[in-house]
Amino acid sequence: MTYFRATDPFPLESADHTKLHEFYTRLGEGRLVTTRCGACGATAWPPRGFCGECASDTFSWVDLAREGTIHAFTVQDTGLPAGFDGPRVFAIVKVDGHRVFALVTGADPATVQVGQRVRLAPVRVSDDPKGQPRWLTAFTPA
Ligand SMILES: [Zn+2]
Repeated sequence: MTYFRATDPFPLESADHTKLHEFYTRLGEGRLVTTRCGACGATAWPPRGFCGECASDTFSWVDLAREGTIHAFTVQDTGLPAGFDGPRVFAIVKVDGHRVFALVTGADPATVQVGQRVRLAPVRVSDDPKGQPRWLTAFTPA
């Protein structure tokens, strides 16, 4: 089957496409991780292959908390990617001091609130062109 990149709304997450592929592998295991600089120790969000503080390109992976609080959110009613039913809640979730953009699933959009506790609940989306599973960062009410 021909692969139409222009109609695929999801990131290519495999080692062929990003050196940060371990983020997605661990997300698929139910873990939210990010990079910690090997030189100065700064923790980045989103994960980075180089440090925004000291420009080092050495890093290790560190786990973040699996729960956070909604810092801000919006509700999308139309124009959703294929396979998603609306309305859809997108939020910035504060996790260990980082602001993580994510879907919020399993929540009535009318009841979502700033400050609400949520827990990590990654969403599996369509496989990549080589059949590797892909995941999106998502949370659900705690
Ligand atoms: Zn650094």
